[in-house]
Amino acid sequence: MTSQSAQPSQAPAVPSTTPATWLGVMGGGQLGRMFAHAAQAMGFKVAVLESDDNCPAGQVADRLLPAPYDDAQALVQLGSLCAAVTTEFENVSAKSLSQLAALTFVAPAASGVSIAQDRTAEKAFFTECGSRSGVLPAPHLVIQSEADIAGVADDLLPGILKTARMGYDGKGQARVRTRDELRAAYAGMNGVTCVLEKMLPLAYEVSVLVARGNDGQAVVYPLAENVHRDGILFTTTVPGPNIADDVAQRAQQAALQIIEGLHYVGVLCIEFFVLQDGALVVNEMAPRPHNSGHYTIDACVTSQFEQQVRAMARLPLGDTRQHSPAVMLNILGDIWFDGDTVREPAWDQILALPGAHLHLYGKAEARRDRKMGHVTFTGATLEAAQQQLLAACAILGIAA
Ligand code: ATP
Ligand code: MG
Repeated sequence: MTSQSAQPSQAPAVPSTTPATWLGVMGGGQLGRMFAHAAQAMGFKVAVLESDDNCPAGQVADRLLPAPYDDAQALVQLGSLCAAVTTEFENVSAKSLSQLAALTFVAPAASGVSIAQDRTAEKAFFTECGSRSGVLPAPHLVIQSEADIAGVADDLLPGILKTARMGYDGKGQARVRTRDELRAAYAGMNGVTCVLEKMLPLAYEVSVLVARGNDGQAVVYPLAENVHRDGILFTTTVPGPNIADDVAQRAQQAALQIIEGLHYVGVLCIEFFVLQDGALVVNEMAPRPHNSGHYTIDACVTSQFEQQVRAMARLPLGDTRQHSPAVMLNILGDIWFDGDTVREPAWDQILALPGAHLHLYGKAEARRDRKMGHVTFTGATLEAAQQQLLAACAILGIAA
């Protein structure tokens, strides 16, 4: 599915980049690693800026610049070497991205990344887009001081208090039933700006990957249905067994309006809630490829990482079509532990399952709750892929 921008792109006209030139990534995690794989497969060289010199992306990069994300000298090195730079870590400062933008093409730009970094700005932006698309964020209130708690409408409780910045995998959040619980939770947030969101009756959760080129052309992937456990993504299933056609269309349209409204270049992932009455609510966005889009590597014509390469290199975007039903299972460090013993999971048994695609991120040490890899099961039918997921959970000792 594609959409042509109604307005001319605000982005500067820049020539496209050809393979064999350098692309840069801010951040050295698994997203950077999979980005590097895609870029290198197309002939690009990849430079990674990250202070941990044994990071997942650094292990595969053609060059690692071992420095903090705000190191002025390293930013100059990266910006001078690379024909374009992207970010795989959403908390890279907008200032670093702006410094890079003085030297090279940066996608996504600091303006879009900074909105996604701050829930208050994100909610305000979603509310503005929602006046056109009809898809709004959850009812919410920004809380900047203890005094704001008195102004919280009764209707916002029970709710979830979320820090405005730096939250991920359910961190920086507290569920509150009463105003007293809200006061206590806010006191525990050390005075940072928070957003209180009304607790909504979710039926299921979905995400939409969307990408936009520098020419304003945008493409959207099929809707992914996500199951979280303890605040961390557990599985992504595409096509989602619960997703009604009209929900998929509304979410895809809303995602296209959001990426257009941001004048964004690159891959963007937007999470939505589907409520028990069928209503669609926009939750948050990640200005980069996303865990719920990993299935695209094995199940779509163009993976989300190749799409990011194409967008930042100002090459034509690729086909988003899904060729195989798919289920992605996140692999957390927990399964390395058998009581006090640490041992490698039985990958031979996983790889014996039909349609299993194993991706491990090269992390030196397994830790509980740490994302170590993922497995995507593709099948001729969704049921076949789901069967393999159940078999894998049994092998790995994960409750299905
Ligand atoms: P991520 O890892 O996706 O960045 P996060 O920590 O930034 O997550 P959210 O996605 O906002 O936080 O929330 C985590 C989960 O909590 C959601 O996936 C959803 O299951 C639940 N949740 C969040 N907000 C609400 C809400 N308003 N009503 C009901 N459930 C919610
Ligand atoms: Mg989320």
